[in-house]
Amino acid sequence: MAVQVYVAIGANLAEPIQQLDVAVLALKALAINNTFTVSAYYGSKPMGDVIQPDYVNAVAGFQTSLKPIELLDALQEIEHQQGRVRLEHWGPRTLDLDLLLYGQQHINESRLCVPHYGMKQRSFVLVPLADIAPALILPCNTSLESLISVAMRDELQKLID
Ligand code: AMP
Repeated sequence: MAVQVYVAIGANLAEPIQQLDVAVLALKALAINNTFTVSAYYGSKPMGDVIQPDYVNAVAGFQTSLKPIELLDALQEIEHQQGRVRLEHWGPRTLDLDLLLYGQQHINESRLCVPHYGMKQRSFVLVPLADIAPALILPCNTSLESLISVAMRDELQKLID
């Protein structure tokens, strides 16, 4: 069965734009029914207190027939292939892939929580998501549009359309 999913892509080390380009190709290979779309790439300031380079963020959307955990495995495999370094919480990383939404499902397992925690507060998730799914209604029945403020848009810098 085909399910519409959204994946957040972030990188801030080792040529982040190229990291996103490679990740986009790898994610595209997971898509079925010719459904792959990706947002613009945005520059954003890092969260937390760790001093580190700015991030490049985007969101991809596609249909998949993978089950949630199979999709998480595939995302983690892509992260590993791109040499993810995770030294500290909220520290720099070559590539971070987060499963934001899996259809309208709520998933609460030890390895996987969907919708992804914090997504409703994060400009670097919501703004790119709205590029590719402007009319999206989240599983909590909130419209994506209602979560995005002018201030959130101001936090981001569009790098590549
Ligand atoms: P992070 O360092 O923020 O990328 O967190 C990675 C860990 O979060 C992994 O061990 C995953 O099993 C777990 N995780 C839980 N929910 C999700 C999700 N929706 N997308 C990606 N990773 C998730």
